[in-house]
Amino acid sequence: MSEETRKFQTEVQELLNLVIHSLYSNKDIFLRELIANAADAIDKVRFESLTNSALKSDWRITIEPDKARGTIRISDNGIGMTRNELIENIGTIAKSGTREYLAQLKTSDSKNIPELIGQFGVGFYSAFMVADKIELVTKRAGSDEKAIRWTSKGESSYTIDESDAIEHGTSITVHLKPDCKTYLEDWKLKEIVKKYSDFIEHPIILISVKKKKDESSVPEMETINSMKAIWLRTANEITDEEYKQFYGHLSHFDTDPLLHIHYSAEGTSEFRALLYIPTKAPFELLMPDQHKTGLHLYIKRVFITDNCPGILPEYLRFVKGVVDSSDLPLNISREMLQDNPGILKINKNLVRKIISELKNLFEKDRTKYDSFFNDFGRFIKEGVHSDFQNKDKLTELLLFESLDNPDKKLISIKEYADKMPADQKEIYYISGESREVLEKSPHLEFLRSKKFDVLLMTDPIDEWILQSIPEYSGRKLKSAGKGDFELDEKTKSEKDDKTKKAVEEHKTLIEFLKKQLEKDVRDVRFSTRLTESPCCLVGGENDPSIQMEKIFKAMNREIPKMKRILELNPDHPLVESLQGLYNRNSSDPKLAEFAEMLYDQALLTEGIPLPDPLKFSKRVAMLMVDGIKGTSKG
Ligand code: ADP
Repeated sequence: MSEETRKFQTEVQELLNLVIHSLYSNKDIFLRELIANAADAIDKVRFESLTNSALKSDWRITIEPDKARGTIRISDNGIGMTRNELIENIGTIAKSGTREYLAQLKTSDSKNIPELIGQFGVGFYSAFMVADKIELVTKRAGSDEKAIRWTSKGESSYTIDESDAIEHGTSITVHLKPDCKTYLEDWKLKEIVKKYSDFIEHPIILISVKKKKDESSVPEMETINSMKAIWLRTANEITDEEYKQFYGHLSHFDTDPLLHIHYSAEGTSEFRALLYIPTKAPFELLMPDQHKTGLHLYIKRVFITDNCPGILPEYLRFVKGVVDSSDLPLNISREMLQDNPGILKINKNLVRKIISELKNLFEKDRTKYDSFFNDFGRFIKEGVHSDFQNKDKLTELLLFESLDNPDKKLISIKEYADKMPADQKEIYYISGESREVLEKSPHLEFLRSKKFDVLLMTDPIDEWILQSIPEYSGRKLKSAGKGDFELDEKTKSEKDDKTKKAVEEHKTLIEFLKKQLEKDVRDVRFSTRLTESPCCLVGGENDPSIQMEKIFKAMNREIPKMKRILELNPDHPLVESLQGLYNRNSSDPKLAEFAEMLYDQALLTEGIPLPDPLKFSKRVAMLMVDGIKGTSKG
C-alpha cells in the first residue's frame, strides 16, 4: 500500500479549527484525553483477552518526552485500530447532531465557546491545541493487518501509510508547538497525570532520558499514577477536586459536575457506583437518537462496556459514572448483559438512589436544584410518564412556573397544594406557549378573582405528562380551559343562580347563536370562568387542549377539527345589547355578523389564527365608523 492523503470530514475540519485557535481554556487536558483513550483501548483488549489467551500482556501506557526533537509520545498496548477503524474514528465524528452543534457554536458569542465546547468533549482532536503535527501508529490486536501510520498537521487533511510496528496498540507522537514546550518537562507531565489520570488502573509510565556524568544517556522509567480506582476508595478520603477530575476523565467535559453520588450497595446485589449529574445538559443529550447510557460497567474492576442498555432507565441517560459489580459473572457476553437479573437489580437500586439524592438536593439546596431542573426537567418528566414504579416520587421532583410567582420562580406541585386556600378544591393549570400569553388568558379571570394560583405549563411536553398525573394527594389536576370548576357550596350556588337567570333571559339569543355557529362550536353557554372578557372557548373534560392542537399542527400532523364550547360572560353588557338587537328584529343581518365576530374574538384570545382575517378587519372598520357616527350624533 502506498501513502494516501485523505480529507477530514467537514465537521472534523470545523472542530479542529475551533480547537487550534485555542478556544479551549485549558491546554493540559490534551494529555488527559490521550491517556483516557489509551486506557479505553487497554480495557477493550483486556476484555477480549478473557476469551483469547493469545492477547495476554502487561497492560501499560507510556509517556516519552523527547527534548531534542520537541516531541512527546503516548503509547499503549491496547486494542489498536485497523485501517478502516482508524479512518472512521479519527477522520470523522460519528456523534449525531455534530453538524447542528457546530453551527450553534459558530453563531454563539465567542466568550461562551469554551463552555459550550467543554460540554462536547473533543477527545483526540484536543491534541492539536499543542501540536504542529501528530503522527499515530496503530496495530489492531488479533488482526493480520499490518500496522498503519497516520499523520496530520491538523489542517484539512491527513495521510495514511503502512508501518512496520509489530506490537498491538497505538502510539501517538505529538510534535509540540514552540510555545508548548513545557510539556517536555517531567514535573509538568507528572503534575498533569496526578491531577487528571491518577486513578487510571493501568500503570502510566514516564520514560525520560537522563544524562549520566560520562555524557551517555539512559532511559529511566517511573510509574507516575497511583492506579487506585477512585470508586473503590472510601468517600471520606476523596477530595472534591479528585471527584471533579474523575468526572472530567469520564465525560471528557471541561465543566464541573453538579453533583456526585458515591455509593456502595450491599445485600442482594453488591456493587459500587460513582455517579455524576452534569451541570448542563451536554449537547448530545439533546439529540433525539442519542440513547446510549452514560454509565461504564465494570465487573470486579474489569471494564466490560460503556453501553449497557439495561443498567439505567432511558430517562436517566444524563447520569454519567461507573458501576463496578462484584457479583456479576465475568465471562458474560455483552449481548446477554441486558437481560441478566443482576443488571436489573443494579438498575432498581441506582434509580432509587438517584431519585433520593435529587430529592435531597431539592430540600437542601433549592437554587442548585432549580438549575438542575432547568436543564434536566425534561428527563424527569419523561420518567413520570415512563417509570410507573417511581412515578409518585418523580412527580414530587417536578417544578413549574405559576401565576402567583411573576418573578418566574419555580414551584413544585406539593408547594402549590400546601398554599391552596380552604375554598379551593382543585389544582389548576393552564398550558400555552409562553407565560406572557398565558397571563392574559380569559380562562383565568375567575380563578384570579378568587386569588387561586395556577400552574403555568409552557413546555410542550407538560400536557402529555399530565395525563399520567390525574391527581396529587387527593386533589384533581384541572385545566383552567376545560370542563367546569369544582367550587365551594356558596360560590357554586351564586354562580348557578346567575347562570340560571341569564339562561332564562337570553334563551332566544343563545338558540340563535348556537344555530348560527353550528359548524364551529358544539355548544353556546354561560360561563363561570369569565369576569371581564365577553367570551371564550373551552374544551370538554377529555378533549385535547388548544395548545396540544397547535403542537400537532406545528408537527404537520392531521387531527380532526375539534369543536369547542363558546362561553359567554353573563355580566358583560354585550350580551344584553345583542339580546336587545335580537328582540327588535330577529332577522337583522347584523346579528349573523356579530355572532361570527364573537367567535372570532374567542379565537383571537386563544392565539388561534382567524379563518378569514380580512373579513374580520373589514367588520371592525365598519364598527368603528358606526361608533364614530354614534358619538358625533350624541
Ligand atoms: P472519544 O474517545 O470520545 O470516542 P476521540 O476523538 O478521543 O473520541 O477518539 C475517537 C475514537 O478513536 C475512540 O472512540 C476510539 O475508538 C479511537 N481511539 C482513539 N484513541 C485510541 C487508542 N489509543 N487506541 C485505540 N483506539 C483509539
